[in-house]
Amino acid sequence: MTTMLNGIAASNGIAIAKAYRLIEPDLSFSKSDISNVEEEVSRFQKAVETSKTELQAIRDKANEELGADKAAIFEAHLLVLSDPELLGPIEDKIKSEKVNAEAALKEVADMFVTMFESMDNEYMKERAADIRDVTKRVLAHLLGVQIPNPSMVTEEVIVVAEDLTPSDTAQLNRQYVLAFTTDIGGRTSHSAIMARSMEIPAVVGTKEATASIQNGDIIIVDGLDGQVHINPTPELIAEYKEKAAAYEQQKAEWAKLINEKTVSKDGHHVELVANIGTPKDVKGVIDNGGEGVGLYRTEFLYMGRDSFPTEEEQFESYKAVLEGLEGKPVVVRTLDIGGDKELPYLSLPHEMNPFLGFRAIRLCLEEQDMFRTQLRALLRASAYGNLKIMFPMIATLGEFREAKGILLEEKAKLVEAGVKVSDDIEVGIMVEIPSTAVMADLFATEVDFFSIGTNDLIQYTMAADRMNERISYLYQPYNPAILRLVKNVVDAAHKEGKWAGMCGEMAGDEIAIPLLLGLGLDEFSMSATSILKARSLISRLSKEEMEGLAAKALNMKTNDEVLEAVKAAVEQK
Ligand code: PEP
Ligand code: MG
Repeated sequence: MTTMLNGIAASNGIAIAKAYRLIEPDLSFSKSDISNVEEEVSRFQKAVETSKTELQAIRDKANEELGADKAAIFEAHLLVLSDPELLGPIEDKIKSEKVNAEAALKEVADMFVTMFESMDNEYMKERAADIRDVTKRVLAHLLGVQIPNPSMVTEEVIVVAEDLTPSDTAQLNRQYVLAFTTDIGGRTSHSAIMARSMEIPAVVGTKEATASIQNGDIIIVDGLDGQVHINPTPELIAEYKEKAAAYEQQKAEWAKLINEKTVSKDGHHVELVANIGTPKDVKGVIDNGGEGVGLYRTEFLYMGRDSFPTEEEQFESYKAVLEGLEGKPVVVRTLDIGGDKELPYLSLPHEMNPFLGFRAIRLCLEEQDMFRTQLRALLRASAYGNLKIMFPMIATLGEFREAKGILLEEKAKLVEAGVKVSDDIEVGIMVEIPSTAVMADLFATEVDFFSIGTNDLIQYTMAADRMNERISYLYQPYNPAILRLVKNVVDAAHKEGKWAGMCGEMAGDEIAIPLLLGLGLDEFSMSATSILKARSLISRLSKEEMEGLAAKALNMKTNDEVLEAVKAAVEQK
């Protein structure tokens, strides 16, 4: 019998394959006395050896596919597993206290973790994280349970998880992972955003994928309509193969627009650009006819590793993107860490409200070494293309002035040292905090451009966590409150002769696009895979008519009223 789960269509496309559960295994055990000490020590040593072999294989694979920086994490884990200062006390404990290896391992490891974590030293805190990870692996081997590792799969699978962190998502092997589905998350959670940039179908927020799907079940992930089918009948599989083929055909139609400009029916031009997370995504931008990059989320460069990227590494990545875009505009966002994006090696205190906390520009203005390193790398890379820099989460003009001041200081130092830096780098901000949207007229006199980050702007305006599917009904992009803020920003920019873009997911949303065109948005930045579809839609719309529609929408009372009005207006096209 087929079971169906409904979720949120997070990334387009259809995939049919075996399920691969990416779930933390149950590592509970009870402490017990043992009689044969030698046997227990040797059982422990065997678990350590098996873990080492496994880690070596993972390290080599990471080295090959993700690069030496990502592989360094596993190298550090291997070092822990060879450290007599850790292994010795565990074996001693088994011998002297006659306890099982699981208990000895856990107690000794916990002691080191507590000790290292309490030190005011970044390096030791990183070691604590390594020990915790390694302990889990050895414990799993002692208990005979498997720790899933999607980077090691060698057949086509669909990943099933409760949630995927951005770094889990970054480590998925695109060759074998055909799609994923999760219990929690929404369209703007970062795993969903990454799925779109990796071009793999995804359905998130199903609530019960992990409870209903077993390893090896055949599943269908329908990222077009947000459904997951478990163990489908052959008839249903055939039906979905047809649906997938029809989607491919539709994509082939859109592909005809690849070298075209984006122009409305009445001749108004807008820029359709892409959101990217790594230099690897540049190919997708070109292949999908992107006119540039509207948001390069540089935080992914800092994630999935165990220390900061150096200035040189960053410079290479930024240069690669700028060169890859061959003079087309590339808007790079400075580090936006915090919220759901954590850096294990930057151990920040736990916060009650991380989305409202010490993050993004707030963190960068305080951790200035880190910020300045990134700015220098960007400034040096500016000689290789058309770079624009934007600061995330700006809430006050004071923050913008301080950030820009630091940028100018670094630029002056580089110029004095004879380093080539472009002379016309536009400097703008993301508008994702309501205070900034309201004060856009004042910001517009100082910034070169705005890019509206609706993913956060909607969550802050509606006070509705973008990650929480229970309150997703409040996450309302078409609510007139949001549209009025967008209008305020666009009008303010134009009054000062500046441009206004949008890099939140709303910019690629079929219902929002007609409204945004009508509101006068200049640049739409979206996942690369949405560009051609959006170009096709805009070519069928008249800007003048959409201005009328947007004007009416601004005075409507609800999100749904706007939604229905847009549907009715666009259906006739
Ligand atoms: C946004 O908030 O709209 C945005 C683009 O930034 P992020 O999704 O990375 O928070
Ligand atoms: Mg944001």
